[in-house]
Amino acid sequence: MKATNKSCPSSICEEGATLLGVVNGNGTIGYISTPMTIDEDFVKEAHEQGDPESRFRFSNKCVTTGCRQWSNGQCGVINKIITNNEDLDLPQRLPDCSIRSSCRWYYQEGAKACTFCPYIITNMLEKKKTEVQSE
Ligand code: SF4
Repeated sequence: MKATNKSCPSSICEEGATLLGVVNGNGTIGYISTPMTIDEDFVKEAHEQGDPESRFRFSNKCVTTGCRQWSNGQCGVINKIITNNEDLDLPQRLPDCSIRSSCRWYYQEGAKACTFCPYIITNMLEKKKTEVQSE
């Protein structure tokens, strides 16, 4: 798959997005191994119960330069997280997620991205800044 045709593993709750996982009680992500595209009803119900991105993780097309997190030709999110947490002794594992073959973070950082991924909950403030800037 080409570098320009990747999936963002930390996207927002909107129709057509893929439900990547659910935030467990311990704050880590429980991945959904079969791709599940969310529809209008899911989006509506999820928003009725608060911020969906604090309870789920969503994936969608990586928009590269259209995203505020895009920096030096790559996604800056995973680089920053790895660099800032290099000293953590996390279990090495590849979660059973549904997007590995297209995942932007995996493409950039390989298995190291998957070590940190279960601890990441989408920061909606950053996403909203992106939306405002691209309007
Ligand atoms: S970083 Fe790894 S675990 Fe997370 S979505 Fe990408 S491929 Fe899946």
